[in-house]
Amino acid sequence: MLRSLRAQLSLSILLILLVMVTLISAASNWFINREFEEYMIRQENERSVSIVNDLGNQYNDLTGGWNQDFLHTIGMYSLYDGYILKIYGARGTLLWDAENHDMSLCGQIMGEISDRMKDAKKSGAFVTRTYPISRNGKQAGSVSITYYGPYFFTENDYRFIKTLNGILLAVGLLSAAFAVVAGTLLARRIARPISKTAYIATQISEGNYGIRFESTPNTRELEEMVTAINHLAQALSEQESLRKRLTSDVAHELRTPLSAVSSHLEAMIEGIWEATPERLQSCQEEIKRLGSLVADLQRLANIEDGNLKLSKTRVDLHEIAQTAVRNLESEGMKKQISLSVSGSPAYADADRERIIQVAMNLLSNALRYTPQNGKIEVETLETEAESILRVKDNGIGIPEQELPYIFERFYRTDKSRNRKTGGTGIGLTIAKSIVESHGGKITVESTVGEGSSFTVLLPKRT
Ligand code: ADP
Repeated sequence: MLRSLRAQLSLSILLILLVMVTLISAASNWFINREFEEYMIRQENERSVSIVNDLGNQYNDLTGGWNQDFLHTIGMYSLYDGYILKIYGARGTLLWDAENHDMSLCGQIMGEISDRMKDAKKSGAFVTRTYPISRNGKQAGSVSITYYGPYFFTENDYRFIKTLNGILLAVGLLSAAFAVVAGTLLARRIARPISKTAYIATQISEGNYGIRFESTPNTRELEEMVTAINHLAQALSEQESLRKRLTSDVAHELRTPLSAVSSHLEAMIEGIWEATPERLQSCQEEIKRLGSLVADLQRLANIEDGNLKLSKTRVDLHEIAQTAVRNLESEGMKKQISLSVSGSPAYADADRERIIQVAMNLLSNALRYTPQNGKIEVETLETEAESILRVKDNGIGIPEQELPYIFERFYRTDKSRNRKTGGTGIGLTIAKSIVESHGGKITVESTVGEGSSFTVLLPKRT
């Protein structure tokens, strides 16, 4: 059977606290009682010694007589304190006897003491001890003292020990009650974010990505867990909207050329249009565009796939720039655009093929959006932490308000014109994905009519 974390925590904390409270209470109770008993035994011995001394003082060694009145007073005081005396003279003559004096009082006092001790659950019995009474080194007589041994409580002692036990019990009960409250609260504090996490994780698994933890617990591990769950929800929600947007974008991108081709073909089949080579070629161009769109999408999917494996080596961005420029030189010549590479070697740990692809994408954009007789310059340099490749053209530029969107897939600054230039709006998205998978950054600066400058920054070591 599964038990809730809160119940288990509550139970464990409670058990620990209760065991501790019981142990502490029992130990202090035992210790105090033991000390008190020892104190009482000492007290009883001292009392006997003081009775014997007091009696000794009542002997007159000159006359050999006793102060009978004082013997009586001492005897009565002792009796009220629970000590029953029998006082003998030197030759064994009985001088004073509590039982003879007041038999019923003795019986009453003895009865009270044994009742009290029974009440206190202390075992013991009346014992009689005989002590010699001496005066100035000479034996003057003897006294036999009967009392409840090994110790007994007077009324006051008994009240004191009862109050003390009561206080100990109250402290124990209070601590136990506190343990229950503290244990439950503590368990709740730990268990709440965990059960909330379980709830939120279930909600996420059911597709409710908007859900978030509102409060953050002040325990480090719990806070990390809450943050992780919030990030997970955020990432999944972004993935979800990306997926939805991608599907609708792809549908949109495919629909336009497909319906153009389809209506052209339909017109030709129905004989409304004559199938001239130009018309067929236009259809073929649209189909080619579709082909390159699908190829670009495939490439993008490969890169964005989390499993993209980069085969990193130490590469020189300067050399990569030269390779990319060489590959596109003929296109530049067609448009009479000058392509040049400047700067210094710039090394980074990167996947050579993919960085060449980034450079080629940036260069072919520059070629596409730079008019005849333009100029394209690739510059490379190194800073302390980064290696930089910059592609600069003096082409048409990008309006400032569009700059934030050009790295998004299918985004084109002017759709109708770009359809003619053959762009699919994916080139920069691919470049950005590759650069970011290397832990780098890609930025752009541009002025309409003056040109654009794309900068790729790669960390030197990853
Ligand atoms: P495309 O295949 O349309 O070129 P990209 O993702 O490569 O797609 O670029 C997105 C858009 O950014 C382009 O359609 C274009 O409008 C703009 N752009 C990219 N590079 C440049 C550039 N060097 N000069 C001017 N505009 C550019």
